[in-house]
Formats: sequence, C-alpha cells, structure tokens
Amino acid sequence: MNSLFADVAVPLPLFQTFTYSVPDSLGGELQPGCRVLVPFGARHLVGLVTQVHRESREGTVKPILETLDRKPLISPSLLKLGLWVASYYLSPPGEALRVMLPPGLLAKKVALDKDQPVQKFWPTKRYLAVVEMTSVEVKLTARQKEVVQLLSERTLPVAVQPFLREVGCSSSVLQNLVSKGTIRMEELESYRSPWAHSETSPEVQKHELNTDQRRIFEKIDQHLSMNRFHSMLIHGVTGSGKTEIYLNAIASTLARGRSALVLVPEIGLTPQISRYFRAWFGEEVAILHSALSGGERFDQCRRIREGQAHVVVGTRSAVFAPLADLGIIIVDEEHDSSYKQEELPRYHARDVALKRGELEQTLVILGSATPQLETFYNSVHGGGPEYEALNSRILERPLPTVHVVDMRVEFQKRGKAVVLSQQLQESIDERLDRKEQVLILLNRRGYASALLCRSCGSTEMCENCSLSLTYHHDSKRLLCHYCGYLRSVPKRCRACGNEYIHFLGHGTQKVQEILEGLFPKAAIARLDRDTVRRKGSLQRILGAFGSGQTDILIGTQMIAKGHDFPRVTLVGVLTAEQALRMADFRASERTFQLLTQVAGRAGRGENPGEVVIQTYYPEHYSLKHARSQNYRLFFEEEIRFRRNFRYPPFTALANLLVQGRPQTKTRQEAEQVADLLLRQRTRLSAQRRMRVLGPAQAPLEKLKGDYRFQILIKSTNRKELHEVLESAMEELSQKGVKIRKPSIDIDPMNLL
Ligand code: ADP
Ligand code: ZN
Repeated sequence: MNSLFADVAVPLPLFQTFTYSVPDSLGGELQPGCRVLVPFGARHLVGLVTQVHRESREGTVKPILETLDRKPLISPSLLKLGLWVASYYLSPPGEALRVMLPPGLLAKKVALDKDQPVQKFWPTKRYLAVVEMTSVEVKLTARQKEVVQLLSERTLPVAVQPFLREVGCSSSVLQNLVSKGTIRMEELESYRSPWAHSETSPEVQKHELNTDQRRIFEKIDQHLSMNRFHSMLIHGVTGSGKTEIYLNAIASTLARGRSALVLVPEIGLTPQISRYFRAWFGEEVAILHSALSGGERFDQCRRIREGQAHVVVGTRSAVFAPLADLGIIIVDEEHDSSYKQEELPRYHARDVALKRGELEQTLVILGSATPQLETFYNSVHGGGPEYEALNSRILERPLPTVHVVDMRVEFQKRGKAVVLSQQLQESIDERLDRKEQVLILLNRRGYASALLCRSCGSTEMCENCSLSLTYHHDSKRLLCHYCGYLRSVPKRCRACGNEYIHFLGHGTQKVQEILEGLFPKAAIARLDRDTVRRKGSLQRILGAFGSGQTDILIGTQMIAKGHDFPRVTLVGVLTAEQALRMADFRASERTFQLLTQVAGRAGRGENPGEVVIQTYYPEHYSLKHARSQNYRLFFEEEIRFRRNFRYPPFTALANLLVQGRPQTKTRQEAEQVADLLLRQRTRLSAQRRMRVLGPAQAPLEKLKGDYRFQILIKSTNRKELHEVLESAMEELSQKGVKIRKPSIDIDPMNLL
C-alpha cells in the first residue's frame, strides 16, 4: 500500500533533504512550505517541508512529530526559488530556505521543555491599549482626572506603555480607571508601520517625465500589460532620473492590481529613497533591511503576507519577500556588491530576482549608471536584458567636469607631506566662498593605514589575519578591520626593538584633521563605519549635510552611493588607485564604478559640478575613462582583458576556498579537493572547456587565525562546472573526507 511521505529541509549545513513518514493524523493538512518538528539523530529539529509524496517504501522511515503551521509559510513558487538557490549556489537547502523566512522561524536548536515551546504558527505581537472611554460619572482623584483629560486629547486606541512613559505615571492609575469603568483596555495586534520612526509625511514633487523617461516608461507599461517574464536594463547616467521611472512603473503595477518589489543596495544610506516611496505609496509600502530588529522585520513580513502592503522596498534578502501577484521587480544599482551574500547561501540578489521573475512571470528592471560588466555584455551582445539608455541628466544639466591630478608631479613640486593637491585645495576654497558643498572620498577609515618601523621596515600585523593593523586616533589603538583585534601602540618596534616607529598612509580620521587645519572656518563632518556606529548617527550626519549645516563631508565609499545633494558642486577623491592594488579581477571595474558613482554626486542641482581625482596612477584605463565618464570606452578595454584571461562573462567562475589550521594540513586538504576536481573534469572530458587553477594561497592568506587556500574554476560551460563541483563534493562526503569549512562561491564578486 502507498503511504504518505514528506521531504524535509533541516537548518543544518547538509546538502540534501530528508524523508519522513507523515502520520495519518497529519495527512490531510500537510503541505509543502509548512514547518514540521522532526527527529534528527538524538535531537529534534524544525524543518521545512519541500515535497509531499505517496509511494511504497521499504525499511523504516521516522515519522514527523508535529506540524507547526496551518498554512504554508512560503508559496510554491518561492519554495521553488529557494530550491533553485540551493542547487545553483551549491548551498544546503535548509540554509537557503532559512534566509527566506524572518529570523528564528527555522531554528537550529529546539528546546523541548514545556516552558519554552517551539515557536508555533505565525506568531503575532500584541500590545495593551486603551480602546474606549465611557465617562461614566464616578468620583475620580485629581491624578485620575488629569490622566482622563490627557487620554481624551488623543485618538484611540492609545498604546499603554508609551503613554505611561510619556506622561510619567504608573500603570495602577489606569488599572483603577478600568475598575471604575471609566476606560476599557484590550490587547491589540501590533502592526508597526514602516514609517513609525519618521516625522510627518514628506513633501515630494512628482515630476512630469521628460521624453527619454517617458519612452522607457511606456515600454515598461507595455510589458506590464503582458504579464510575463521580461527583463530590461536601464543604463542611465547619474542624475538621469531613474527613480522617477521606477515610481511611475510601480504606480502602474498597483493600478493593475499587482504588487511590486524594489531592491536597493542600502536603505540607511539613501533616506531620500524611502522618502519618495512614502510620499507616493504611503502605508502600501513595507520596508525590509538589516537594521530592523527581529520584531520589526517580522511585522513587515506579516503585513506583506496578509496583503496589507503591496510594495516592498528592501535590501538583498528582500528578494524573497512573500508578495503575492508580483508584477514587477526593480533592482536599483544592480552593480552594487552588497547584493552578493558573502556567507551561506552565497547568492546574488540580482540573479535571484531574475530567476524569480522567470518563475512568477513578471517584469524585471535592472538599473545602473555603471552596470556590472556581465550585465552590460549580456544586454548589448544578446541573450540578456533588453537595453535602454538614458544618456543625459535631468533638465539637460551637464555631467561634472573631471580633473585628474598626478600626485607624482605634486610630490616632486611640494614634497611628501602633501595630502591635498594645490588644485583641490583651491577648488575647496572657492566652494566655501560661494557657500556650496564639498564631498571628499577616501576609501580607508581610521587614522593611519599602518604602523611602519623605519629601522627594519616591518609593519604591525594582526595576529589572526595577514593584514596590517590600522591606527585609530580616538581610541589611540591599532585595530584589525577584519577580525576586530585590538592592540595598543608599541613604544618600540616589536621586531627589532628600535624606536623609530612611523605612521604610514592616511585614513579618513587623519584627513579630517588635515582639512580642519586647512579650512578652520568650515564645518567638516566624517561619514564612515566608525562614525555611524551609534543608532541614528548616520541619519544625523546625512541630515546635517543635506540641510547645509556641514560644508565638507569626508567619507569612505558610503558617500558615493545614490545620494542626491543638489548643493554639492565639488567632489574630491584621494588615492583613487587604491582599489587597483587588490588582487582581484574586478579591481579595475570596481575602481571605475566607484569613481563614476562618486563623481555623479557633483552638480545635481542648478550649479554645475567639478571633480578632482588625485592619483599616483593616472595612466590606468579605469582612471582615464572615469575622467571622461565614458562607460563604453571603459567596457571596450575591460572586456578585452576578460576575454584574454577567460574571466566572466566569457566563463562561469567558481571559487573554492579551503580554510583551517595548521597550514600544512589545510594545504593538503586543498590539494585533495583539487585532485578530485581534476578527476571529475577528466570524467566529463571537459579539459578544454574548463580550467582548475590552484590550490594557491588566497590573496588574504590568513584570516581570523585560519589559513586560506583557493581553487579557481573557470568553465565555458556552466552546466559542466556545476556537475564537476557537485560530484566532487559528493565523492568527498562518500569517502568520509572531512574538509573543514570548504566554501564554494559561484559567480564570486570577491576573490580575497
Ligand atoms: P538617478 O537615480 O538617475 O541618479 P534621480 O532619480 O535621483 O537620478 O533624479 C535626479 C534628480 O532629478 C532628482 O532630484 C529628481 O527628483 C529629479 N527629477 C527626476 N525626473 C525629473 C523630471 N522629469 N523633471 C525634473 N526633475 C526630475
Ligand atoms: Zn585580524
């Protein structure tokens, strides 16, 4: 006889699902997408049902213990998407499905005592509120009268806790009013509005679309009416008004009774994005990003699931938002590296968005001023998204003029102490006189980049990572930016005992100090990870700059993101070639993108913008083409390099990292993995289409105490790449070879 079985993904790093039998008592109600409690070895786990099937089966299969959801937590198409992520990125299905759910729903540990039950069903958050005022005629004390008066000035329901805090009274006053029958209190379900922390509704001007914007919008509108998968790349120069197109497209989607998903790199950094969405769509919007507390995230997901919010604006993981009837997915700044998750599952939200669009038959729009090379290539040379360009800024405003200053010449003229070139210094002076604003980019936080001994030449290194420590002036200590290791500054060199210790290179802290010395009258602020650590300080720094209280804002790449500050007319870039020194095939692309994006912050208002880029390497093509802000020319040179060295888009790339300690053992493991890969490659006769490089020491050879070896696989055939990796991993697990922390990165964004 056939009985019912369910395949269950468990939240453990295991590359498979597990089959359980479904007890008769659950048979009728169990659906894929529901959570279940299952026995697993000696413990119990919460897993997600991926499939329910009927078959006859020999042997014993353990039964599911309990269902935890009445309705599936994720829709069939999202489940499909999650399993696609697992197989494409070679990630354990439990881990892939876990990121699709609000935190805590697929817990790794299950407490089995009665006091701490498993989180069952979709939990709701409740709060106590005053819901009614009867004003029954009773005698009240003076304090009670006062509280009744205060309550009557508000619209009901009034949440009890914040009210008590605000008016400074104890809960007994309210309890007494309840017993006298003056007020009634009830527990209500809380749905926090995404705008709970914001002030009043913002004023945002809706613009009449210009000809270019209208042409693209109309195309989008036409695709929306077809209800099927289609993708489009909007390649629009900075300030060309892409956001306005998105907003109109979403309005049109809502009017058709469908919902919209918008991915942005970082919500906190671009508050104006949320302002636009709030003004246009109000409570229709749900916001999802990493700075939300678990509870806030939960509330947002619940509003989406229950159909109260039809527009989701969010960062990376919002690509899995449980929207029904999706009509459009927009990925703004599609080139941004924050879309790539650097831990399991190592997915890229843009590519997941495209897959979701395919599964749910929606339109997918990618937007950028500097598309990722692969996206542009696929779009223009076929097969990829339909290409649309916006070549000029709004209202015919000119792109900024870019000057490149050769710091080698500057060094010969003025010596090594020079941080600001003559040209940049004079340009800043001009802006200060005219009451315009300045952005200075230096992509290195801290005070000095390294502590160098002038006698023996050694630098102070982190004990866990192969990286030099950065000096931070406020704490007067040396810090590792990767593992957080802290050390005081030694009086003498720890290698040779000499006292000639010297601070090398400048970080944002140091440059702020220098600017304050050069421009004593200017108000100068700094934006980097150190200054935004406290909650709310990011908004404060950006707010002060937006309102003109700050004249000069210095910062790391944070200042290059999509900000729209119309009074910025000058952008300065210090050590522009810095990222080129990274041992990474995307170094040139990243440099070009960063320079173009930061240049794009200048001259967005009525006055034209100017950019001064300081560099020791002006000949490099990233700098040459950033000067003319010519994407096409940059693309032509970069694509040649990619073709010659067989990098994406000409190959599919995977980076396999083996890390551990001690070093020799880790290297042996890496070699074993490489051998397996080579053998699998031979089995497929794919030698000519696939290269297996390494193992080699990773550019960051030691991190957090672990030694790191990498194997790079380049294949002109993606299917074969997957096959080789999968069979190699399988062979490893069959042989019981335990590779500690192997990590496979498909389509890596970062080879460090
Ligand atoms: P991008 O995202 O392409 O860099 P934005 O969407 O931020 O550009 O637009 C730049 C500025 O132009 C914004 O201040 C926006 O309000 C304004 N804007 C957009 N479209 C129009 C339009 N059709 N007419 C006038 N101003 C516009
Ligand atoms: Zn470290």
